[in-house]
Amino acid sequence: MSALTSLTLKAALDGLKAKSFSAVELTQAHIDAVEAARPLNAFLLETPVKALEMAVLSDARYATGTAGPLDGAPLGIKDLFATQGVRTTAASKILDPFVPPYESTVTSQLWRDGAVMLGKLNLDEFAMGSSNETSAFGPVINPWRKGGSNQALTPGGSSGGSAAAVAADLCLGATATDTGGSIRQPAAFTGTVGIKPTYGRCSRWGVVAFASSLDQAGPIAKTVEDAAILLTSMAGHDPKDSTSLNVEVPDFAAFVGNSVKGLRIGVPKEYRVDGMPPEIEKLWADGVAWLKEAGCEIVEVSLPHTKYALPAYYIVAPAEASSNLARYDGMRYGRRAQGGNLTEVYENTRAEGFGDEVKRRILIGTYVLSAGYYDAYYLKAQKVRRKIADDFDRAWERCDALLTPTAPSAAFGLGENTNDPIAMYLNDVFTVTTNLAGLPSMSVPAGLDANGLPLGLQIIGRALDEGTVFSVAGALEKAAGFRSKADKWW
Ligand code: GLN
Repeated sequence: MSALTSLTLKAALDGLKAKSFSAVELTQAHIDAVEAARPLNAFLLETPVKALEMAVLSDARYATGTAGPLDGAPLGIKDLFATQGVRTTAASKILDPFVPPYESTVTSQLWRDGAVMLGKLNLDEFAMGSSNETSAFGPVINPWRKGGSNQALTPGGSSGGSAAAVAADLCLGATATDTGGSIRQPAAFTGTVGIKPTYGRCSRWGVVAFASSLDQAGPIAKTVEDAAILLTSMAGHDPKDSTSLNVEVPDFAAFVGNSVKGLRIGVPKEYRVDGMPPEIEKLWADGVAWLKEAGCEIVEVSLPHTKYALPAYYIVAPAEASSNLARYDGMRYGRRAQGGNLTEVYENTRAEGFGDEVKRRILIGTYVLSAGYYDAYYLKAQKVRRKIADDFDRAWERCDALLTPTAPSAAFGLGENTNDPIAMYLNDVFTVTTNLAGLPSMSVPAGLDANGLPLGLQIIGRALDEGTVFSVAGALEKAAGFRSKADKWW
């Protein structure tokens, strides 16, 4: 049934509508693909029985003409989204075995629109990481390999399971989250499309919190159009999330394919960082040339505070994480360790339950929020955050969207950066700025490096202007003509 799994979401939905195949057939093909791809470790939990039950109901809706916009589409769900009655781990031992009694708003909207759940996808523990190696359940393996090599590569992180599953045709699309780049960097590493929408577009309700002022949900998909279809379902106002924006959700797919003629595209000079591989420089130049060809006006802009974004992010995110993760005390959820008194139970539970990277973030976060250091670190980082947002505001006076690389390298080998947290954090150099400023940003696969690994370009838009981002992404996708898939070795 490989023909069915190689369809795009759009083509699959068209096929279902035309009754070329049933939702059960489409779902079964994906269940088989998921089973065959276990060496990738992309799924933490497969839910084939539930998937087939949902597919049967989908077929019934197609039969009665009541099918929704995503009816019968098999999707993977990052295991950071609470799914009612289905184990949710955040890839941490501390939550296991947590079975949520409620459904996240984003996933409930996908089910409302008829999508089918194939299972829960692996990620970095609590979404902290850039390689999926902090997962308590082992890393995800990137379906892509360097030409002529068997070395296992990371799919990026934290949404590595989502990106690998989409790249390997295990699902038609996946949910993901992005606090500092976790949708866009894995998308770039796997030749998939990922968008982090404007902060507040998608409800955070039922998404396990990492850093609440930065966390945003979004899709990882095979094409720009698929990403637009998924985001249209996922987005929307939710009174259960106080930061959810009460604004209309346009049909994002309508922007894909729109002419970009006359749009002003900014190229921020500060994103040309030292040591950037020439291939990334070249890809960026290609992107500029493609957009010029499509009728865009290219303008050089300056975002002078870019160099402070990464340090500011690695203060703000751990600070919020240390506060959010205080709730995992062995009393309310999941795992509880033994101890002679209450304090010992807390200490043992957290010492056993959290992995090293999560502990590192909690320590940093607690430190930068502590009485003597709050002003020097946390408050300063908040001020830098404001400056970064101001930089973007100034740029919007001169351009309508920005074009940058998504990540400073292609996928790297498992274990290559695990002993050097700073090297790992540098992966986020181009992505954290938009989380700090709350702006929509998207990664589109645009080429292969000399080793045959995918590289992505990032498009950044004004707040709530995902429409322009989708139009520019569509133009880049068309010009790049990226059709490569990983050779199947699993
Ligand atoms: N890699 C970044 C971090 O480790 C971003 C993670 C994310 O976006 N969830 O914090």
